[in-house]
Amino acid sequence: MAERITPRSENYSEWYINIVTEAKLADYSPVKGCMVIRPRGYALWERMQAVLDGMFKETGHQNAYFPLLIPESFIRKEAEHVEGFSPELAVVTRAGGEELEEALIVRPTSETIIWSMYKKWIQSYRDLPLLINQWANVLRWEKRTRLFLRTSEFLWQEGHTAHATQEEAREETLRMLEVYRRFAEDWLAMPVLTGVKSQSEKFAGAVNTYAIEAMMQDKKALQAGTSHDLGQNFAKAFDVTFQDREGRQSLVWATSWGASTRLIGALIMSHSDDRGLVLPPKIAQTQIVVIPIFKNQNKAEVLAYAEKIRDSLKGGFRVEYDPDDNNSPGWKFAEWELLGVPIRIEAGPRDREAGKAVLVRRDTGEKIPAAFGDIPAKVGSLLEDIQKSLYAKALEFRKANTVCISSYDEFLSFFNDTDGGFAESPWCGSGECEAKIKEAAKATIRVLPFGNEQRVRGGCVACGKEAAHLAVFAKSY
Ligand SMILES: [Zn+2]
Repeated sequence: MAERITPRSENYSEWYINIVTEAKLADYSPVKGCMVIRPRGYALWERMQAVLDGMFKETGHQNAYFPLLIPESFIRKEAEHVEGFSPELAVVTRAGGEELEEALIVRPTSETIIWSMYKKWIQSYRDLPLLINQWANVLRWEKRTRLFLRTSEFLWQEGHTAHATQEEAREETLRMLEVYRRFAEDWLAMPVLTGVKSQSEKFAGAVNTYAIEAMMQDKKALQAGTSHDLGQNFAKAFDVTFQDREGRQSLVWATSWGASTRLIGALIMSHSDDRGLVLPPKIAQTQIVVIPIFKNQNKAEVLAYAEKIRDSLKGGFRVEYDPDDNNSPGWKFAEWELLGVPIRIEAGPRDREAGKAVLVRRDTGEKIPAAFGDIPAKVGSLLEDIQKSLYAKALEFRKANTVCISSYDEFLSFFNDTDGGFAESPWCGSGECEAKIKEAAKATIRVLPFGNEQRVRGGCVACGKEAAHLAVFAKSY
């Protein structure tokens, strides 16, 4: 109930953790940094998986599974990759009661083991493109963790594709970025910026990393999906070549792309309020809850009426029914609000007599009376409206908290003296300016958005030299 949740204005990170635990999405594990995903949280992940999996298959990908353990020598084959991941690796040195001859890494990501297999599977241009996705867990040892947002072990999908040409690989990278954008915006009602990462923020081993970035309610950025153009880096490291149409041997071009259970954290922080979780209807595991309001003397007929309402919705919607008589209606209202169910239907004795019910929106609290026969149609249009208005509200929030800043003093003050937000600022492209800004403002380049090239004006916000990009800077998760 509401008093179990710290208001956002008081302590935003406590608010977030309260929602995760009170809405029973996840719990802390006995191993620090790991997380137990509870049924209500896992149901959200299953729905995300189902939708994304369908989108991957529509774009020609197949699922496969590669092992959890990777020979240590594999990780060392790509120089940037090993440097980027080394601090986070968990290593198995003993198994079956013996020291292992070669240590095994618990996968932090699967490029290396997958490319060792691609070497066996790819010989000719006829074997390309190879479009594989894997649903799996990975482990990256993290010092500071937060449920869903950053945990040592997490669930994700990782796509790994191999192509005959650089152009095809680039097209694939952008195609999958677009899949993530559509998923975030159409299903999670979460507006995102799309674009390329700066070189210091890219994936270890990539030529370029593209990302979708969303603004959370505390105005920080959250990276919600990434798509990497890997060039020929992994083909070189694992010596993966193919015979092209002209009979020449060439190195294969690669991409990889991933989205994780972090999306659940993003979803929570995009829409929820001080009463609990707010879920977009398309992704909510329960879209409607029917709550009968009765006393002992009218219990039987009210329950029968509420069940009739539930049954009228069963075919078209994901509906739950709460006839429990241990708790008061008020308690139940608050509990289902906490769980984020988009519509609650209240049915009492007077509603039964009048042949109607009251529909209550979780996002706005608005109460809408409906005649019994109109309930399914009304619920359908309300759910669509909730989905759209959650998106519109989040987009409005991001716009209201995005500013163009070209003076360095203003830039520092925006991040150090206010709640911040997204700053669109000209940047010369140098890593030194990026590092200087990170040090002074704790803000990083989240993305160089597509289409911003034409809007570059004036000098770099940090050094004043000619700007090459209009970058989006923010504090981030
Ligand atoms: Zn500069």
